[in-house]
Amino acid sequence: MKASHHRGMARTSLLVLGLAVLLAAIGLTLSLRKTPSPATPRTESGAGAPRPEHIVVVTIDTLRADRVGAYGYRSGRTPVLDGLARGGVRFERAYAPTPITLPSHASLLTGLYPPGHGSRHNGMRVEAGVSTLAELLKAAGFVTGAFVAAFPLDRRFGLDQGFDTYSDTMPRGPDGRLRNERAGRAVVDEAMAWLGQQGTRRVFLWVHLFEPHAPYEGDDHAAVGARAQPVAERYDAEVARADVEVGRLIEALGPRRPSTTVVVASDHGEAFGEHGEAGHSVFVYDTTLRVPLVLSGAGVSRAGHVVAGEVSLLDVLPTVTDLLGLPTPDVDGRSFSAALRGEPVPRRELYAESFAPLLDFGWSALRSIRRDGVKYVAAPKPELYDLSADPAEVRNIVTVRSDQARDLQARADAYSSPELPASSAQQQTTPEAQRRLQALGYVGAGRVASQAGSRPDPKDLRELAARIAQVTSGELSGDALRAALESIVRDDPANGQAHLRLGFVLVEAGQCPSAERHFRAAMTTGIPSADPSIGLAGCLFARGDLAEAAEASRVLDGADAIEPGNPVVKANQGVVAMAQGRNDSAIASLESAVAGAPDFLEARFNLARAYARAGRRDDAVREARELLSRLPPASPQRAEVERLLGVLTRAS
Ligand SMILES: [Zn+2]
Repeated sequence: MKASHHRGMARTSLLVLGLAVLLAAIGLTLSLRKTPSPATPRTESGAGAPRPEHIVVVTIDTLRADRVGAYGYRSGRTPVLDGLARGGVRFERAYAPTPITLPSHASLLTGLYPPGHGSRHNGMRVEAGVSTLAELLKAAGFVTGAFVAAFPLDRRFGLDQGFDTYSDTMPRGPDGRLRNERAGRAVVDEAMAWLGQQGTRRVFLWVHLFEPHAPYEGDDHAAVGARAQPVAERYDAEVARADVEVGRLIEALGPRRPSTTVVVASDHGEAFGEHGEAGHSVFVYDTTLRVPLVLSGAGVSRAGHVVAGEVSLLDVLPTVTDLLGLPTPDVDGRSFSAALRGEPVPRRELYAESFAPLLDFGWSALRSIRRDGVKYVAAPKPELYDLSADPAEVRNIVTVRSDQARDLQARADAYSSPELPASSAQQQTTPEAQRRLQALGYVGAGRVASQAGSRPDPKDLRELAARIAQVTSGELSGDALRAALESIVRDDPANGQAHLRLGFVLVEAGQCPSAERHFRAAMTTGIPSADPSIGLAGCLFARGDLAEAAEASRVLDGADAIEPGNPVVKANQGVVAMAQGRNDSAIASLESAVAGAPDFLEARFNLARAYARAGRRDDAVREARELLSRLPPASPQRAEVERLLGVLTRAS
């Protein structure tokens, strides 16, 4: 798991009573995943049946087309995808309608541009009234199952529409919090088990893999960031792991394979410095819009064919209904089923957008039109690129082709306004959802000021955006991380996430007085997280006097109101109450923490101590034994727990 990144937001800085290294130790244990054995490259049969019986869609999050062997990448570690392309049809120019996970998947599964399905950013729900591929296929008699690997696709955001089974449960970390992602292996294991239960029923299966998303784990899994392999190699290692999982899934189709159409795509690409961008979501260059798209199996009769024409993820839905002989729904996408038989794709216009600049930073949204070999970006300072001469989109020719630019601006406006209707921009997500999206690098936090018309152009702030993306990617550590955060809070003082992270970096460096200032700044920005309060309370409590403990207690009560029932807050309230001599209150808080997160071992240790202090020796012994049973055998903390247990049992 990518624990090293996410753990930073949920630390238990107050709980320093002898078990301070416990969380780190457990995190390390969990991150030691077994490296799967490499898959054998194989070529799929090109003899497609006329009409598919089953449909399988696999999305590999954040996978750039040009990092796949079949797309010409010489260092590619994608034997399974390459085999699917050799036996099927590969689309050389496939594009996402937005470089953001939830809205892009929503477009793939509805055939609609984001304005049509209403999800313009992660956290913005897909409208209930739209028809999804799962709904169409369920109505046609398919059994439908989805298995997703990351929180942005949680069912609460509406993509579960039409799925009989929608598996989106993420594992809990050692701090008791739900993680925001899970390993592809777990996702595919579940999908395989589900497939095994379906007998002879017709199956529509969607599997989502999150491996290539930052932070990128190298081949040894544990090391992330500058200390490890170069970033390109680590990204490729993640891609390789996803490829292995696709191979296991295809294998599990067994006798269904010849009658199954398999669609493999990504939801968006990833920037590694192109256009000054890091990550994805802000800009609409092809760095993040171009995606791999491969179809193979039933209905795909031209093995090894490469389609040069431009297609969109929106086209998957009408293509699938077409292949199945179902009526074509009224969607933005177009069927490319003729291309699967070797026919060319007609030229057309493609729209794309990103509202992340607006919703994350209050900057201008970006919209783009791709037509007649050019691409126009509607922005405060518009851009026009001749894609045939300048596929990297580096020479802006908007001033020399102003008539064409004017036409394309009108086209962009026809798809969407640069502002969002107030109702959708203010769509409520819960604080918990916002916090989890932010931990994945989506800043959110409703910074849409009412300054429409005078919004900054994201490309003028690309350097700041890249610094923020670098920090949220988990790629920086130590002094580099601290310097980046200090520069972000200087240039963007309202960035609560940056203040929060800087606070914890300073705590780690033993500089609580400086950290307190940033925790307080984060709290005033109103970010929907208990973490700034937890950090501040930790610093106050560490001073060791009763007045500060009282303030820490008040701060934690505020945190409890922001994230009610959060086990980390409860545990910290318990520790502070114990120090204040309020033992009943301490026990109640710690019991609540342990009930909410049974593997929250520091909370359990303190609960045992609180019981002991209250004279409840049997309860204390029970908790200590429970804790021992949950500690890994080699854990250095066992000695401390055994010592406590020894004191308790000797006394009785
Ligand atoms: Zn994504």
